[in-house]
Amino acid sequence: MTLALEIPKLTIGSIREGLLKRRFSATELTREALRFAEAENPKTNAYLHFCPERALSAARSVDEKLARGEDPGLLAGVPVAVKDVIVTKGVRTTAASKMLADYIPPYDATAVECLDAAGAVILGKTNCDEFAMGSSNENSAFGPVRNPVDPERVPGGSSGGSAAAVAQGTAVVSLGSDTGGSVRQPASFCGVVGLTPTYGRVSRYGLIAFASSLDHIGVVARNVSDTATLLQVIAGRDERDSTSAAVPVPDYMAALNGGVRGMKIGLPREYFKDPDSETSKLVLDGVEVLKRLGCEVREISMPHTEYAVAAYYIICTAEASSNLARYDGVRYTFRSRDSETLADMYRNTRGEGFGAECKRRIMLGTYVLSAGYYDAYYLKAQKVRTLIARDFTEAFREVDALIAPVSPFPAFKLGEKLDDPMQMYLSDIYTITASLAGVPCMSVPCGVTSGGLPVGMQILTRHFDEAGMLRLAYAFERNRA
Ligand code: GLN
Repeated sequence: MTLALEIPKLTIGSIREGLLKRRFSATELTREALRFAEAENPKTNAYLHFCPERALSAARSVDEKLARGEDPGLLAGVPVAVKDVIVTKGVRTTAASKMLADYIPPYDATAVECLDAAGAVILGKTNCDEFAMGSSNENSAFGPVRNPVDPERVPGGSSGGSAAAVAQGTAVVSLGSDTGGSVRQPASFCGVVGLTPTYGRVSRYGLIAFASSLDHIGVVARNVSDTATLLQVIAGRDERDSTSAAVPVPDYMAALNGGVRGMKIGLPREYFKDPDSETSKLVLDGVEVLKRLGCEVREISMPHTEYAVAAYYIICTAEASSNLARYDGVRYTFRSRDSETLADMYRNTRGEGFGAECKRRIMLGTYVLSAGYYDAYYLKAQKVRTLIARDFTEAFREVDALIAPVSPFPAFKLGEKLDDPMQMYLSDIYTITASLAGVPCMSVPCGVTSGGLPVGMQILTRHFDEAGMLRLAYAFERNRA
């Protein structure tokens, strides 16, 4: 097979083998990967821009290491896409917002530095909802992303471009960000694997802030083993992010083969409110596979689940209103022209630079933090957050992992939910609980609906038990029909 034909099917393992056997060089691979991605991208709009110079220079350094007989790194030559809310030195980073349309960061995010050090080749930056606010990728200032499985449908959001690129084969793996489901839900909608680690497992340094207590960098890949490798590369303590945890990083790839017999699994009743839906059925079929592998499955209850959407949309908007205050036309690129006074300049810049969803969240967030409303909304939501986290703590006393749907339904049509923000928010019901509790979670493909749309099964484990979660996902992936 020629290299060009192989591109959409490459894995981290197959690239390593090809490089070591000298079937191709990293430079040849990068050239082909860029050509393929640039040609295919108009079908989905997954990438906002490419960075060929940076990619080819990374590839050259892998080839030089190989020529010297040095270890080229875990991700040597692997074409990677990075969500455009993660900063890249010298490469435009827009957060899919007009506000940052021309922003060229002077530094790399820590996760990006880790990719570089592991020999990865960043091809470009992926589209998303503006400042990662959304569930369909329709809030991008640069046009929506189309789902590669069905171009009339959304890829999910906010990391829609990162999931679509991997599903389409224009990246082997990608980085996304997840504040309330933005890695898991698009992975589920596009039929790929998406993992959000424990809060603190991966540095947020260089991740453009949306809601700092909820923001995570996560990973997308076409299989569980590539997911484990990518997580391995980016996990760990970082002095530049005080919320990153000084917890040792285990060998995730080694953990994959551990076996799952005897593992205790909980099915939270509140996540299967509609057991007859196609989505629930596919997830429950997946649970049967795990039973066959010797997992002990039981139903459990997580009683505060129903309050999660309300609490999340208060906390995330409050934090967003504060984080987005910095975009005032003074420091970050976009500035409205022709304002008479400084106050006008602020107003006009924010009025013109932010899209509708960002404005909605800034207003909502400012309201819930304001004097007189703080106790009724923000403080109450924080208390609910504690109760939701406690549901997880109690569940994990009884079981090792939880299984749930990722989303109540598969990918919906472009435009279908745009007029009703409330419906859009409610669709996050199964993903935001884990975000509020900070536990690791992932979506693994578990089948397709009668209409051919992918559905993901969500796996959640205890804080810092990404290894157990990946082991379960790997066993599932290898044994599902
Ligand atoms: N859909 C959720 C929201 O709109 C989650 C977004 C995210 O995880 N970044 O806030």
